[in-house]
Amino acid sequence: MKLPTCPNCQHRFTWREAYHAAAKTKRFTYCPNCQTTLYPTANSLTKSALILAILQLVLIIFLPSLNVSIGIAILILAIYLVVFVLYLPFGYRYKEYEDSLFKL
Ligand SMILES: [Zn+2]
Repeated sequence: MKLPTCPNCQHRFTWREAYHAAAKTKRFTYCPNCQTTLYPTANSLTKSALILAILQLVLIIFLPSLNVSIGIAILILAIYLVVFVLYLPFGYRYKEYEDSLFKL
């Protein structure tokens, strides 16, 4: 797993910079080094959404069948959230132009 780099100046994001860029609700971010506008690649957006969906499916389908107590379920949910937040900055790659999510 690698942290994203700026395609313009090759600046390697720190975990904190990458987390702030990935957690933004805007569709673009700025390189902390050269201030170029960067867009997440369609591939990295799809991958992050898929990982989130798979983890949620595992929780929704398998957690009730394990017959665990509510305390354990909350603990598993907390671990899941921590793992997702830690992973998030690694899942993104950036380009200087915006990808279309749906290729025609
Ligand atoms: Zn840059």
